[in-house]
Amino acid sequence: MPFKYTYEQMLDRLYKILPKTKASSTRFEVPKIQGSIQGNRTIISNLQQIAKKLSRKEEHLAKYFAKSLATTKDSKDGRTIFIGKFGSNKLNEKLARYVKEFILCDQCGKPDTVLIREKGITFKRCEACGAKSTVRTLK
Ligand SMILES: [Zn+2]
Repeated sequence: MPFKYTYEQMLDRLYKILPKTKASSTRFEVPKIQGSIQGNRTIISNLQQIAKKLSRKEEHLAKYFAKSLATTKDSKDGRTIFIGKFGSNKLNEKLARYVKEFILCDQCGKPDTVLIREKGITFKRCEACGAKSTVRTLK
């Protein structure tokens, strides 16, 4: 006499063997930078919060911005200052690129990645799918 599953048990088993659907992809929202231009400087007031939200070091973000804006950075009273005038459109566009390069997994597109350094090379490793790819090391 073969064991019979109830309909609910069958469903339950089915859900267990089905791969987790990507349907839960609540699109990852890139936080918005708050910058203001004062004289010849651009002051970012929320870089720390953004770094926290992205699980990255503030220093790493600041380095990235300085490099991609081809300028130097400074900090004062917990705010990051870039020399030069940079509008918020430009800053947010750079941030979007940062997210693509350093946060989102190249394989599955999820933001659950960590940066690891091995022998001077920086890797982005995905906690969701296990993919690992090299990224630039910001000096
Ligand atoms: Zn992944």
